Amino acid sequence: MSQAEPLSAVFQRLIANYGPISLLHYMGESNARYYADKDPFGADGDFITAPEISQMFGELVGLWLADIWVRAGSPQPVHYVEMGPGRGTLARDALRSMKRVGLEPQVHFVEGSQALRALQAEAVPQAQWHHDLGSVPTDAPLLVVGNEFLDALPVRQLVKTAKGWRERMVDWAEDRFRPVAGEKPMDAAVPDALKDAPESTLLETCPGAAAVMHELAARLAAQGGAALLIDYGYAARQTGSTLQALRAHTRVDPFAMPGEADLTCLVDFAILAEIAAGEGATWQGTVTQGAFLRALGIEMRAAHLAAAAPHHAETIQRAKDRLINDDQMGTLFKVMGVTGPQWPQGAGF
Ligand code: SAH
Repeated sequence: MSQAEPLSAVFQRLIANYGPISLLHYMGESNARYYADKDPFGADGDFITAPEISQMFGELVGLWLADIWVRAGSPQPVHYVEMGPGRGTLARDALRSMKRVGLEPQVHFVEGSQALRALQAEAVPQAQWHHDLGSVPTDAPLLVVGNEFLDALPVRQLVKTAKGWRERMVDWAEDRFRPVAGEKPMDAAVPDALKDAPESTLLETCPGAAAVMHELAARLAAQGGAALLIDYGYAARQTGSTLQALRAHTRVDPFAMPGEADLTCLVDFAILAEIAAGEGATWQGTVTQGAFLRALGIEMRAAHLAAAAPHHAETIQRAKDRLINDDQMGTLFKVMGVTGPQWPQGAGF
């Protein structure tokens, strides 16, 4: 991949020939290229995620799954499914804590990046890989996790102009990419409540996240199981662009270097809950990451780990604070629980 033509050149040629491309297209191609040949995580990378901050994160996710599985009657066989597992760290930590209570599921990873699949194979050699949920087995309940997966899926943006609603496109002009309003009327794609919104109102939707939730909820309704979706996002509908780009732990212009920075958007948990319920699954709630991890006993787990390794006590406390404090990941990050209709209420919701 590394010898491929820079994505920026591909986009410029495309735009020169056919006119502006949709933001959906721009973000989808940029992230596919970004994840294809990089390991973006950690201190030397572009961003750091919860499982990379501390083993406590994956362990508690694993214990949540084990607890609900036991209360559902310990069905066997059962599949652990992780969407976008990154380096495989969360899965490794979760599987270790599940094993302690007798849960040893088959492991399935939904991952698009070959570079990351190789890293995941080192962390969890027994995993099987899938391009999407379609090939995940249908024979048994699913225990599903997705951490910072949905936020990487491309969004469509609609913007209200003097001429009505238009799709937000990306043009190349004066030596840079810039967002512009498309020509085609898009009023039909906007909910009635927003039809007469003031000029410049922006509506962001993520068709990929909606499609994943449709499929996942239908699977949980049919096969049983439970899912935790963890991401930064909002629990009540809002308008405005949430597109951002991260490179070397710094926010950069999302239009400056396509394919070289991680493009993300906040996740609309309100619409995902409606979709889950519409497919016959049970929406257990959407809570803040801080409240969720506290309810699962992260304070006790941190104290325990610190007592066992006193010279690491400060690092452990700092990691815990980073995961749950309001001014860090505690409030912006949300945890959404979805289960099959016959499954019990999960802890923390
Ligand atoms: N869950 C990990 C990684 C989050 S980054 C962590 O918390 O550290 C996003 C992950 O989703 C990466 O593994 C990326 O390769 C994967 N991904 C992004 N878009 C994808 C897509 N369309 N299909 C499959 N995997 C995708």
